[in-house]
Amino acid sequence: MDRRSFLGRLGLAAAGAAVLPSVASCADGGFADCPALDNVKESYQADLLVVGGGPAGVCAAVAAARKGLKVLLIDNGNCLGGMGTKGLVGPFMTCYDAKGERQIIRGLFEEIVDRLIAEGGAIHPSKIRHTSEFTAWITEGHDHCTPFDPEILKKVYDRLCAEAGVKVLFHANFVGPIMKGDSIRGAVLLTPSGLEAARARMVIDATGDGTVAYRAGAPCVFGDPESGRVQPASLFFRINNVDTDRLIADVVPHLPEFRRVNGVSYRCLHWRVAQAEAAGEWDLARKSVNIWRSVEKDQWVINCTRIHGVDATDAENLTAAEVEGRRQVEELMNFFHKYVPGCEKATLMGTGSTMGIRESRHVHGDFVLPVQDLIDGVIPDDNIFLSANSIDVHGAMGGPAGGLYMPIQKDMYGVPYRCLLPAGVGGLLLAGRCISADSAAAGAIRVMPPAMAIGQAAGTAAALCLLNGTTPSSLDYADLRKSLLEQNVFLG
Ligand SMILES: Cc1cc2nc3c(=O)[nH]c(=O)nc-3n(C[C@H](O)[C@H](O)[C@H](O)COP(=O)(O)OP(=O)(O)OC[C@H]3O[C@@H](n4cnc5c(N)ncnc54)[C@H](O)[C@@H]3O)c2cc1C
Repeated sequence: MDRRSFLGRLGLAAAGAAVLPSVASCADGGFADCPALDNVKESYQADLLVVGGGPAGVCAAVAAARKGLKVLLIDNGNCLGGMGTKGLVGPFMTCYDAKGERQIIRGLFEEIVDRLIAEGGAIHPSKIRHTSEFTAWITEGHDHCTPFDPEILKKVYDRLCAEAGVKVLFHANFVGPIMKGDSIRGAVLLTPSGLEAARARMVIDATGDGTVAYRAGAPCVFGDPESGRVQPASLFFRINNVDTDRLIADVVPHLPEFRRVNGVSYRCLHWRVAQAEAAGEWDLARKSVNIWRSVEKDQWVINCTRIHGVDATDAENLTAAEVEGRRQVEELMNFFHKYVPGCEKATLMGTGSTMGIRESRHVHGDFVLPVQDLIDGVIPDDNIFLSANSIDVHGAMGGPAGGLYMPIQKDMYGVPYRCLLPAGVGGLLLAGRCISADSAAAGAIRVMPPAMAIGQAAGTAAALCLLNGTTPSSLDYADLRKSLLEQNVFLG
């Protein structure tokens, strides 16, 4: 691809002419004075390039490498795990059916959990019941979550990739696709060395934001197209040095008062929030605090900050959100110290090194998974995994209310392989949060166990395409199903 068409893919070519001459550092010549753009080193060749090292990207890369592909997995951070490590998000949401009787997300997810447990970094989901301190005492839709330690998860992912022979490259930002006609053939990356090209026969977009598909020209919608809004973002943080027995003793007598009124949850610690509010020491949108016990008894994960209208595709907007997130964490630490029994001496272990983004772009394919299929418990003919995770769309309307939380009434639902196929772009598969689903359906399958299952299916599909000489859209589903079953994926 020449420089002009590459810049065009980024939407910069036109802007370069119109905007750059007024920018001081490129005052006279626009991009002509920026030699970096003419010196893209072709550094990497792979069968498969996976962009994004979150749960979906890791599982895609491992599944493909185990089938013999030469895989390059890139991430713009310094570790694998995405939201689960950099974002400190956890626990893993449920991997069980809606009755809480049978584990239905297995495959690589189960292997990762077993490895975590072997290293003392998780508690098996069979031992975690809803309405306990491990589920923020939430009653519905949270049976059999999996608490885990994010530092141990980083190591588990490192080893999983190394053992499978995946080449991992950190500090590598996807900048734009290398295209041949309508098909993607690699990417230009920004690394500490400058701009580098990675050629690949196929690419998987596991960026969460659908950045690869978007830049390659696939149709995308941002958030919920009807409202034009996205779910609020949250900066997670972890605390330790908590006297857990005293904290639990404060919560348990209040369990019968847990309720949801006009979309607002009055759940954990709402009585303490009311005290702080009365004293003028609470200005957060939430009226309760989701506080989840972690693997170590004195450690807790806090999901309470809430920032509305965050556009994860806009650096300025994200920057303001990160600063506001940290301000809210400071307020919450003061709240814990002053109002919450057992947390008087709690220590802030750390905030996520990235804002928690629940929703941004949804890439569209010819088929867009409608939320009604999940409600109806549809198991499609080209099913790639089963889940019973609730439909969980946090309030998107600028206040605490307006969200949608719907536990699954049928036993489970399936997700079709078709959701991994972006419209109009060849050689590309989607994995994780950005797959072709409507905003509410994405609200159910965006969590980590489904993201891993989607990644495993995407990596397996990529391998089968390259090994069988076919394309993602003409892949024989029977082959994919057979291979997923061989990998301990549960398909009903
Ligand atoms: C606030 C919040 C709370 C949540 N709570 C839970 C929970 O309790 N339990 C649960 O199971 N799930 C939870 N989730 C959902 C879950 O964490 C994510 O949706 C899930 O991690 C999505 O996986 P993914 O692999 O698609 O994306 P991500 O985990 O976002 O990973 C994508 C990776 O790609 C990288 N990347 C992005 N763009 C580029 C680029 N241009 N170049 C290079 N790398 C790039 C990112 O840095 C990241 O590492 C929560 C999410 C949020 C935001």
